[in-house]
Amino acid sequence: MKQELIERLTRYAKIDTQSDPASNTCPSTEGQWTLANMLVEELKAIGMEEVTVDENGYVMATLPANTDKAVPTIGFLAHMDTATDFTGANVNPQIVESYDGGDILLNKDLHIILSPTDFPELSRYKGHTLITTDGTTLLGADNKAGIAEIMTAMEYLIKHPEIKHGKVRIAFTPDEEIGRGPHKFDVAAFGAKYAYTVDGGPLGELEYESFNAAQAKITFKGKNVHPGSAKGKMINSLKLAMEFHAHLPRNEAPEHTEGYEGFYHLLSCQGDVEQTTLHYIIRDFDRGKFAARKATIEEIAAKLQEKYGKERIHIEMSDQYYNMREKIEPVKEVVDIAYEAMTNLGIEPIIKPIRGGTDGSQLSYMGLPTPNIFTGGENFHGRYEYISVDNMAKAVNVIIEIVKLFEQKAATK
Ligand SMILES: [Zn+2]
Repeated sequence: MKQELIERLTRYAKIDTQSDPASNTCPSTEGQWTLANMLVEELKAIGMEEVTVDENGYVMATLPANTDKAVPTIGFLAHMDTATDFTGANVNPQIVESYDGGDILLNKDLHIILSPTDFPELSRYKGHTLITTDGTTLLGADNKAGIAEIMTAMEYLIKHPEIKHGKVRIAFTPDEEIGRGPHKFDVAAFGAKYAYTVDGGPLGELEYESFNAAQAKITFKGKNVHPGSAKGKMINSLKLAMEFHAHLPRNEAPEHTEGYEGFYHLLSCQGDVEQTTLHYIIRDFDRGKFAARKATIEEIAAKLQEKYGKERIHIEMSDQYYNMREKIEPVKEVVDIAYEAMTNLGIEPIIKPIRGGTDGSQLSYMGLPTPNIFTGGENFHGRYEYISVDNMAKAVNVIIEIVKLFEQKAATK
């Protein structure tokens, strides 16, 4: 199984599928079409049925049930695009056989080293086969490892008809990294009761809580006058913006928070005397605290409007996604079965809140409860990204075990 996983991830990684927030098309980039079309051919070749790609680049396929039991249809999802943080062009994966626990020279010419000094968790992978970058790009194991794992699990189930299962649906989706993954996802056409994104990090990750998320763009309008004769006349919008930011609690920022703590994050500040724009993201796990954070933004703006005039401050705030826990807890079996699958395989489940969102956060609110399970990767989105092939094989086994458990727990028709 390891060879198939290496072959698949390497082949997918070489296609540049970086998404582009500036693009209005879906998928946002042409490279994602290249991968989508490749995956369609591969799904047909391994014997999947109802293989489709729609006009927005969403690939779907079916593994038909081979049991008479009333098993709910479950789905597995992975995204085809790679992060915008670092280049995904000319990815050149490197294979490290039976890793010795020491420094890995990613790039001799540029002297780029993946070292356990900087990344102590590397020590866990002694003896594993690792796939790394060549130091100049990201790897794209996020989330092509998930695609490779789902593909390999489906092929295994097709080749082992003695394993009984219900109907399984799979989907490979575009533009997760720019937050649009689920936007054009056809939940009805997918037709699953539950799904799992195979898009997590290290071995054992099982996630069903994400932030509640909003963004706010606050524009400050100043009044520019020659500085020599500005007394009592000039209003400097940069200073209005600074005053606004000073009202936010200093410690409720990404660099000061962890675990279940929420924050306000100033993403960008652009301006001059005449006009300044602050762009924030607002995050909290708790729905009440999330609402309170948004209210705080409004209150500070109102205070400054009172002081400087209503027309000087303009807020545009909108919600981005919500904590999927609200939608998953009522159908907790979707998490319990993944938990059981991991423990059956001797993998310790690591349940922690995602300090971000996944496609599952949005899908859960679109009627498809979708927790997230590990791929086995580390250091996503940058040159130090790597993945253990041994743990990829475990992810494949978790997918197969989840499929088995749904069948075993189902009632006979
Ligand atoms: Zn991802």
